[in-house]
Amino acid sequence: MRALRLMSWKSEPVLVEVPKPTPGPGQVVIKIGGAGACHSDLHLMHDFDSNILPWSPPFTLGHENAGWVDSVGAGVTSVKEGDSVAVYGPWGCGKCSRCQLGIETLCENPMGAPIPGGGGGLGLDGGIAEYMLIPSDRFLIPLASNLDPSVAAPLTDAALTPYHAVRRSWAKMGPEATVVVIGVGGLGHMAIQIIKATTAARVIAVDPKPMALALALEVGADQTLESNEKTAATIRELTHGHGADVVLDFVGSEATLLMAQAAARTLGDVTLVGIAGGAVPFSFFSQGYEVSLQTTYWGSKPELIEVLNLASRGLIHAEHTRYSLEDSAEAYVDLVAGTVRGRAVIIP
Ligand code: NAD
Ligand code: ZN
Ligand code: ZN
Repeated sequence: MRALRLMSWKSEPVLVEVPKPTPGPGQVVIKIGGAGACHSDLHLMHDFDSNILPWSPPFTLGHENAGWVDSVGAGVTSVKEGDSVAVYGPWGCGKCSRCQLGIETLCENPMGAPIPGGGGGLGLDGGIAEYMLIPSDRFLIPLASNLDPSVAAPLTDAALTPYHAVRRSWAKMGPEATVVVIGVGGLGHMAIQIIKATTAARVIAVDPKPMALALALEVGADQTLESNEKTAATIRELTHGHGADVVLDFVGSEATLLMAQAAARTLGDVTLVGIAGGAVPFSFFSQGYEVSLQTTYWGSKPELIEVLNLASRGLIHAEHTRYSLEDSAEAYVDLVAGTVRGRAVIIP
């Protein structure tokens, strides 16, 4: 079968022929129906190495996956051949207290996981391929009949990550609240919909690209602003001088973090999602009084079930640009160029 593989750090991925996997006891092989191309894969290709991550290439890219069960190993009874499923991507040990709660992102026994701190497409083989090996059936969530795997795939990260981030700040997203979404790409355009579907807060979307701001309005943003050095001041003007109750930064550069700090209302939340690697000073006066600064990482399995529920009911949907497996490397070229609308999804 064909697979798009990252062969070494600081390199571009290549489409190569590899053996089709076979499931061992407790394992499942799925036929890929869709695999999302995440901006994090660009960080994997260009910014990271073994000093940052506990695992290394070669592996097949693609950590946002859904498809149909192709074959099951001995002892698997929760799914059967032909079932359509979404893959919960963060793979922990399944036994520690965090994993028992379904928060495998924060597994406290990573040496007991299929790979320490990783998953399929993150150290182990991912879904930009014809088939993918899933190490345990507990990582599979059955799809509602109205959710095609190609539609569900991007939800497993591009929607799950912002859902987790939004959920953490729900208490600050009341009817009078303003939420700022910085960066309207794969994750940001889902964040806007998740906020609108689950709260009554006003959403201001920020991006330098007119195409992204147009998408923001289409998916429900109340207002859009071009990203520049004046954006934080404009957010204050639009909020009677108060600032935004919650700022979600899907970029994470120094410029966007400074914007987030300057735009946040007292008692507000600034949540860093993007991994651009920016850093800003943190001191008593570097933001308004009682502003919380926090990072956030992916999401839990129960949250993914809730995300799929929202999608199945038509309350959120991933805008996506489709690529064939042959053109999968092109998806990343377009992601770098900033020409992808919503999420790039590879459909073998
Ligand atoms: P994307 O490329 O689809 O979207 C990024 C968007 O940010 C684009 O629309 C771009 O125009 C916009 N942008 C760039 N510079 C900006 C600026 N200065 N101000 C405002 N907007 C700006 O990326 P994505 O796949 O949505 O991922 C976003 C970030 O989140 C990446 O850094 C990715 O690695 C990270 N990520 C984090 C997690 C997590 O768990 N924390 C999970 C998935 C992705
Ligand atoms: Zn991702
Ligand atoms: Zn664990």
